[in-house]
Amino acid sequence: MKGICSVCKERKFVRRNRETGRPLCLNCYQTARYRDSSTHEKCFKCGKVKPVITRNRTRQAICQNCYKRDPSRHEKCFKCGKVKLVITRDKTGKTLCQNCYMRQRRAKKY
Ligand SMILES: [Zn+2]
Ligand SMILES: [Zn+2]
Ligand SMILES: [Zn+2]
Repeated sequence: MKGICSVCKERKFVRRNRETGRPLCLNCYQTARYRDSSTHEKCFKCGKVKPVITRNRTRQAICQNCYKRDPSRHEKCFKCGKVKLVITRDKTGKTLCQNCYMRQRRAKKY
């Protein structure tokens, strides 16, 4: 539906926030989610309170920045052969970088 976003005050397609009942545009909705402090924790690497992207083996929180920077997460991608941030692995343990992962997802039309 179209309406005035309660955050940026622009007339856009909005959806109602389930908790507050206020209309939010998609941009502000995503920002609000990102800012949602319930997903935030102190990053064990940089010490900043940020959205938790992942956790290490000892369940310590790691933010997106530190996750991307971690050299141990970089491996040769099975598809493109470049050393990149490994975003996922398939069942056989083959590494996939973000580019190849996205391309694969698009190809499968999820
Ligand atoms: Zn907005
Ligand atoms: Zn961090
Ligand atoms: Zn790749």
